[in-house]
Amino acid sequence: MEATFEKAARTDATRDEAPRTGATHEPGAHVDASRLLPTASARCPACGDDRPRETWQLPGQLLPHAQSFEAARCHCGQAYLREQVRPEAQDRLYDADYPLHRGSALWGPFAPVVAFSESRVDARRVRIVRRARDLGPGDRVLDLGCGRGSFLDRLHGATGAAGLGLDHLAPANPAGTPWSAGPGAAVRCAEAALPKLPPLAEEQAPYAAITLWHALEHDPAPRETLAWAREHLAKDGVLVVEVPDESSGLAKRFGGSWAGHHTPRHASLFEPESLRQMLESSGFEITHHRRAGTLLPWTLVALSLIDRVGFRFGRHPAWALFPFWAAGLVLTSPWLARANAPGRGLQLAIARPA
Ligand SMILES: [Zn+2]
Repeated sequence: MEATFEKAARTDATRDEAPRTGATHEPGAHVDASRLLPTASARCPACGDDRPRETWQLPGQLLPHAQSFEAARCHCGQAYLREQVRPEAQDRLYDADYPLHRGSALWGPFAPVVAFSESRVDARRVRIVRRARDLGPGDRVLDLGCGRGSFLDRLHGATGAAGLGLDHLAPANPAGTPWSAGPGAAVRCAEAALPKLPPLAEEQAPYAAITLWHALEHDPAPRETLAWAREHLAKDGVLVVEVPDESSGLAKRFGGSWAGHHTPRHASLFEPESLRQMLESSGFEITHHRRAGTLLPWTLVALSLIDRVGFRFGRHPAWALFPFWAAGLVLTSPWLARANAPGRGLQLAIARPA
């Protein structure tokens, strides 16, 4: 059982404009300017325009300090984060305050329960991909935004398909440490920052499936990534994209503190219509779309509440949250504990080359 980890070149995402400094908008918050993330103005990720129809402020989430960022809606309909963290500071977004790459170990004594819950998410993802396309040992699957690589491990175990996963490298997984443990080198994870993909990704093409589980919204140039995916997908391959749904009632109710914004990590704020336009204009035909995903809707609601009360991962022990997390899940289970319940803040699209 040994997976390989290859360190790929990290390349800066395409940005323009001069550096700007973000400003805090939390009333009464102490501002330490040296902690603020440097930002630059981004254009619409869908059409490239820079004259938004409207702009508003979103408070930063899962950050060790208070800072807000400008969001915008373009004339083309796409909502996006206009004030984005500059490429050289992106690593600070995925450091000790970023819990989502650290897996169940973050949860101390409750790790086994969280690991079980995470394995259920991976199982749902494997079912979805297998329903979309038959996979076997001769097939290769690319997972962009692979986290710890557990989905690819599970997919390989179920189908024999080889997997390549790419993601930002979390500090808990320093270069050289395997993220995943697929048999042999059948599942590999490497470091990459979208939209720039390493030569390794090119070498493994064509792919029977390319999956982006909560990755496309992080990508500062999603059209570039989708064009690459279109080019490197097999003719009968499938693209699977799960992103938050900005049009959901929960997104509207929580407003700026909704965890689906994940400010400032989400560059695009997708609604079903803007996701459809993005995929179709990138050469894909959507064969299935639903306003539900593989995460439990409670996950986004809990993260929204946690951030709102000022809890900071990395500074406060995550395991102390667990009783709240579990109790909330039980109490809200009729509404928020079913991954396939529609309209709860998530959406999933399956597409094929048009
Ligand atoms: Zn636009």
